[in-house]
Amino acid sequence: MLLEDERSGLCAIGLRLAETGLVTGSSGNVSVRVGDLVAVTPGGVMLDRLRPEDCPVLDVEGYLLEGERAPSSETPMHLALYAATDAAAVVHTHSTYGAVVATTMTELPPIHYNVLLLGGTVRVAEYATYGTPELAAHVRTAMEGGKRAALLANHGGVAIGRDLDEAYENARLLEWLCGVYVRSRMIGEPRILTDDELQQVVERALTPPVFPRRS
Ligand code: 13P
Ligand code: ZN
Repeated sequence: MLLEDERSGLCAIGLRLAETGLVTGSSGNVSVRVGDLVAVTPGGVMLDRLRPEDCPVLDVEGYLLEGERAPSSETPMHLALYAATDAAAVVHTHSTYGAVVATTMTELPPIHYNVLLLGGTVRVAEYATYGTPELAAHVRTAMEGGKRAALLANHGGVAIGRDLDEAYENARLLEWLCGVYVRSRMIGEPRILTDDELQQVVERALTPPVFPRRS
């Protein structure tokens, strides 16, 4: 079986996404890439009930190599992200706060410094029908410049990572940031971090303090 470990990884992430409420039912999809091969969750299947053999394997050009079930309808978006970034895994969800921000805003502004982990301000990709090459192209554009996540207008969010765990954590962080933003708007006008403040966070992260050891 091609990519056996990776297909098991998709099942584990599918379960985690469902358990942490980032996906409900069969909404959302996940893929993982190794070289020229991509394993992806099948279309229309509950993500917490996947078996490795349910997950088809394609090459990066989109030709099906193995698997009885049809690949996720969003496979064009996943392949577009592999073509345009260093991603080795992609997680797409319809998580609640992500969908709320994606329905009302053109970007998620930097109100918390952890947005830097996603490449700063998260763009909302222009709306297009799910599963279309147009949506894939819009998402690709929204991820330009080293972004690790994007929102999809009136739809949800997508995150990439160097492996499945990182893509999952980025999807979770995206949802957390959207949740903070939406709740902040409920009690006032959230202050947006300035470019200078964000730059200082980057510098702080690059030069962590040294704690001398007591001898
Ligand atoms: P699939 O079930 O085909 O993966 O589609 C779910 C989805 O999120 C479409 O955008
Ligand atoms: Zn979707």
